[in-house]
Amino acid sequence: MSDTYDYDLFVIGAGSGGVRAARLTALGGKRVAIAEEFRVGGTCVIRGCVPKKFMVMASEVSHALEIAEGYGWSFDNAQFDWPKFLEAKDVEIARLSGIYAANLGKAGVELVHGRAILKDAHTVAILDKSGAESRQITAEKILIATGGRPWKPESLPGIEHAITSEEAFHLPELPKRILIAGGGYIAVEFAGIFAGLGVETTLIYRGPNILRGFDDDVRAHLAGEIEKRGIKVILGCQHRSLEKTATGIVNHLENGMKLETDVVMFATGRIPYVADLGLSKAGVELNDEGAIKVDPYSKTTADNIWAIGDVTDRMNLTPVAIREAVAFHETVYRNNPQHFDYEAVATAVFSQPPVGVVGLTEAEARHSCSKGVDVYVTRFRPMKYAFTGSDERVLMKLVVDADTQRVVGVHIVGPDSPEMIQLAAIAVKAGLTKAQWDATCAVHPTMAEELVTLKEKQSQNTSAG
Ligand code: NDP
Repeated sequence: MSDTYDYDLFVIGAGSGGVRAARLTALGGKRVAIAEEFRVGGTCVIRGCVPKKFMVMASEVSHALEIAEGYGWSFDNAQFDWPKFLEAKDVEIARLSGIYAANLGKAGVELVHGRAILKDAHTVAILDKSGAESRQITAEKILIATGGRPWKPESLPGIEHAITSEEAFHLPELPKRILIAGGGYIAVEFAGIFAGLGVETTLIYRGPNILRGFDDDVRAHLAGEIEKRGIKVILGCQHRSLEKTATGIVNHLENGMKLETDVVMFATGRIPYVADLGLSKAGVELNDEGAIKVDPYSKTTADNIWAIGDVTDRMNLTPVAIREAVAFHETVYRNNPQHFDYEAVATAVFSQPPVGVVGLTEAEARHSCSKGVDVYVTRFRPMKYAFTGSDERVLMKLVVDADTQRVVGVHIVGPDSPEMIQLAAIAVKAGLTKAQWDATCAVHPTMAEELVTLKEKQSQNTSAG
């Protein structure tokens, strides 16, 4: 430990990654401070995963009521109260943010309120809300964990009338009509949220099908299922402009369509939050995509500065940022060099129905498995919907390396798929074979039992060539 600096470690950004790294390092006996310009908890807790999941759960109730009616229940005049929900959500988010802050304190981390910018490789300035410099702090090592920010195409005429997910968490009233632009996680999740809450919802995406990068069967299946839930999906089309009128916002689309809605939300991606951080003064370089350039151990181009989480744009998921934080701590403070293994990380899209996936898509597997792949697919109506007249279907797909017989990809669209995929991920990560999956006795009657009873190959042992 060196007394040359105020702190051994200074962390910029108190989100999931930054908080974990700060706490571990302080608990290890180092002098640690962390700066946060907004609220402790970061994107995940304050304006991402957690409030989003509450919104999904609120929205799913309408579907649960429909199912319940099939089972003989009746609900007279069931109503949803948006302000009441927002209030409850905000109370819970404040509670969670408070726990994060308290845990920092318990670990001995100093929490610095304000925006931190780099003056040089060992010095940060803290800016107050007016942008004035309130303090200078020096640190032997610095960790940047500032996350990302929503991005929308600023050159699009009328884009100032569109919101992003950040504002969607605080809309003063529930709109009657919403249009969401984009086809990624956030677009699909929010389309489901608003549709479930009774909002007339349109999703517009420029590509041939939503969720680019996911397995093609998942993309096709989900697009069909969300349409069954009442979402109007417009594919292969973008905005030409947006126009504010007395009654709403008119979406002028490339295909000549004009569509008026009350709210327009752009979910067209997120970018690393590096603006005005002073990176160049500290010798920290960006890559071609504008993310902080790091080596496998999360070290930047400056010798004493590391970066983790969305600001490095590697795999933008909360649990990954946390693992990167742990690997940073082990490498830098415990003489145990570690880097996170990005293989077979399970992920869930909280659409309605949700998606859970782990491992390779069929197309990726055909590319990487030299002797081809065996593919097992089933589509079925969940038992739960038997009395509803619903024709909603679950999709389950296993992708198996034909040579080794290892299950290399699992793709599920349907109720509870995020819960199922967490467990399936253990088997994929462990490299278990299809025969080992099949040797596992089914739990009956469940949806998940299909995963261990899939017998018929959809496609045989053919490689991409
Ligand atoms: P994504 O990168 O997933 O999706 C962005 C979407 O916007 C894509 O469909 C993209 O199209 C489209 N797009 C990009 N630029 C334009 C443009 N100029 N005009 C029209 N459409 C455009 O970003 P999200 O914002 O949805 O999410 C950001 C990240 O956050 C995710 O990738 C994920 O890592 C993380 N996340 C994870 C969640 C979870 O785990 N459940 C939930 C939410 C976010 P195209 O595909 O053609 O490029």
